[in-house]
Amino acid sequence: MLWDVDYTLVNAGGLGTRMYEAAFRELFGRDLLAVASKAGRTDRAILLDTLALAGIAEPRVHVDDLLAVLACQSAAADGTVRDDVRAMPGASAAVAALADVGARQSVLTGNVRPLAELKLGLAGLGEHLDLDVGAYGDMHEVRAELVPVARQAAREAYGADFGGTSTVLVGDTSLDVAAALAAGARTVAVATGTFSAGELAEAGAHVVLPDLTDASLVLAAVTGHRDADDIKQPGDVGTLAGLDSRASTAAASRPSHGPGAPWPTR
Ligand SMILES: [Mg+2]
Repeated sequence: MLWDVDYTLVNAGGLGTRMYEAAFRELFGRDLLAVASKAGRTDRAILLDTLALAGIAEPRVHVDDLLAVLACQSAAADGTVRDDVRAMPGASAAVAALADVGARQSVLTGNVRPLAELKLGLAGLGEHLDLDVGAYGDMHEVRAELVPVARQAAREAYGADFGGTSTVLVGDTSLDVAAALAAGARTVAVATGTFSAGELAEAGAHVVLPDLTDASLVLAAVTGHRDADDIKQPGDVGTLAGLDSRASTAAASRPSHGPGAPWPTR
């Protein structure tokens, strides 16, 4: 169970951009005037393009240094920044509900780990997330490449296989969806970022939710134990889109104990 961070669990109120600016200033001694497109991308990819936008020759020569400064400043900022970082509506209850059924939860995020930890901490969402088995934005330019990283870490930590749809990604962009699909994982999209429910369904999400405010709906979407016909609230029908029946059946028939279960029960 791998959560995206920005606009899925957290609205960081521009903190990420401010941290980019501070890291760039420390490394190059001047202001950063523009940041490349961010939605769904990894910090490594964003910063490569941002370095190019800033006119830095050979961005690849400098990107690791910039990522390192960003990580260092993010770690040092813990407890001192007073930014408008807040949990997305329902995020805390949704994470708690999944923890209640024994889900192994971590993050798959474009953020470098210290920045993800800073945002989650400021939003009050650190509990229940095993960040040691997460995958982070300095690890690869391509988000889809983070899925095997997290799976490997989870396999080593828990001694269970998280192949196929026993891995579930929840995210707010088409790149979150694409990453899950490329890895054969289950994908639950939330239309709480810049992508509409229609765009996320078009991208191939197994389920699209309007937000995380209905914890039981989130639980059903993640586990595949509920399909569109079971949604009783009139407003839910149009927003729970594109449930993949094969994924639902596979998830519903999977034993709740042992290797392969996406939410090993305690
Ligand atoms: Mg996001």
